[in-house]
Amino acid sequence: MAKVLKSLSLKTKKADAATDIAKINQFSVKELSPEEVYCFSVAMCDNDIDRDLERFTNRTLDGLAPLFMGKTVISDHSWRSGNQIGRIYDTYVQRSTEQNQAGEPLRQLIGKVYMLNSEDNKAVIDAIEAGILKEVSVGVSIKGRKCSLCGEDMKFNWSSWAMQCDNKHILGETYPEKGLCFINLEEPRDAYELSFVAVPAQRNAGVTKAAGDPDVDEAFDTLLSCPDLSENQKFGELLKHMQQSSMQAVDREERKKILEENDKIIKIFEKEN
Ligand SMILES: [Zn+2]
Repeated sequence: MAKVLKSLSLKTKKADAATDIAKINQFSVKELSPEEVYCFSVAMCDNDIDRDLERFTNRTLDGLAPLFMGKTVISDHSWRSGNQIGRIYDTYVQRSTEQNQAGEPLRQLIGKVYMLNSEDNKAVIDAIEAGILKEVSVGVSIKGRKCSLCGEDMKFNWSSWAMQCDNKHILGETYPEKGLCFINLEEPRDAYELSFVAVPAQRNAGVTKAAGDPDVDEAFDTLLSCPDLSENQKFGELLKHMQQSSMQAVDREERKKILEENDKIIKIFEKEN
């Protein structure tokens, strides 16, 4: 079961500390007054198909809501103590009037977050209010990666070099009458954190450690010092990961455009017949 990281552009709305103070105090060590906190709601994740052609199902969002209660909010994906900036005190799933790319009503998992209204947090609070923080991402544990067309497990296939299910539906392919094959993320097991990101993280593969991250450099140094990696279990995963990372974001954009064009053409065709 892997940790899954998913990002959304940041949308916050100020919340009323006076109304919510009882809920906030459920999670605070000492009793806080409304003046001592800054609180807001934020869309943490949704049921839309993302850049990796994955999406949380409605049931997964419902399952994640209680798992996020009381969880920590950090900045820039770092758990260093100074980066722990707040806590989630309430969660709920909100249905919007918009549609997602699967043509269903868009649903968002909303988290309500409180921060201490302290000198230490002032810079972060200002950044939120000024809209400088651009993205949030969630770290969750998900058991199931299922084919959107048939519900079977999606796995990496070494001969086709693609994610596919037992019924040979290939991720990203569009099938007549069935539509696009994407991945439904199902069976949430845990929620780890919500992270605020000042600069949008690397856009592909749900990876939030950017290429320039010192941790990543260090990891590569370690790998390069190994004379032979072929016996290592994770080596296969790494190869796959590198392959996916090298897929250009431009290609994905192009594919999206083509799929949208296809949809339009199909609709026109259906009208005329
Ligand atoms: Zn399938």
